[in-house]
Amino acid sequence: MDQLVEENLKTVRRQMELACQAARRRIEDIRLLLATKTVPLEKLQMAIQAGETLFGENKAQELRDKFPLMQQYNQVEWHFIGHLQTNKVKDVVKYVTLIHSVDRLKLGQALHQQLVKENKTMDILVQINTSYEESKFGASPETAVELVEQLSLFETLNVKGLMTIGKLNATNDETRHCFRLLKSIQAQIREKKFPRVQMDILSMGMSGDFKVAIEEGATLIRVGTSVFGQRYLPDSYYWNENARRDD
Ligand SMILES: *Cc1c(COP(=O)(O)O)cnc(C)c1O
Repeated sequence: MDQLVEENLKTVRRQMELACQAARRRIEDIRLLLATKTVPLEKLQMAIQAGETLFGENKAQELRDKFPLMQQYNQVEWHFIGHLQTNKVKDVVKYVTLIHSVDRLKLGQALHQQLVKENKTMDILVQINTSYEESKFGASPETAVELVEQLSLFETLNVKGLMTIGKLNATNDETRHCFRLLKSIQAQIREKKFPRVQMDILSMGMSGDFKVAIEEGATLIRVGTSVFGQRYLPDSYYWNENARRDD
């Protein structure tokens, strides 16, 4: 059991290498983030022992619980990858170096207000709903360019790129379509040359589809299940319609 996380990591890293070879990309250009929702601390520690440094949480509460216990490993970096409610921004900006899930102006505003108070800046990605599934968060592809421009006007926020969750339980072609759409939105935004906006990070690809994501240009993949095993909570608990959308 103890070796499991380490073994799984080796497998994932190997699959990343193979995907890179197939896509003629360099493995150094792709970061592996470990999605740790519901994952107990012992497993996180195993991943750290195996050399991993980048972790992502979906809920402010879980982040707040895990962060202090992980602080002893000072090479560890946290990102926030889940739906972020405006009343939770305070916790999140305290602990993370990048927020992947900024998908509406109101959230940008709330982040800005908090960051001004703390005299800080924050790197963000704009999350896009490339699968057009009702149950997913993320700005619609049609409003993406405008949203990025609006967010870039908050001087505390550094837009670094885009994030998406590919269509789930879908064919490779359907997921590929999501990732290509994200890549094309990145190109549209680059063309606009908005001041201070960078579009270097494409956060896309999870356990089931990271190979396709690498082929389509991902620079950061987010993997949970393949490393830590099945979760006891369904993803809908983290992703979906039960949460209040405006908030
Ligand atoms: C849980 C989660 C992941 C990882 O999903 P797996 O299928 O377990 O690899 C990636 N991104 C987000 C936003 C997640 O919530």
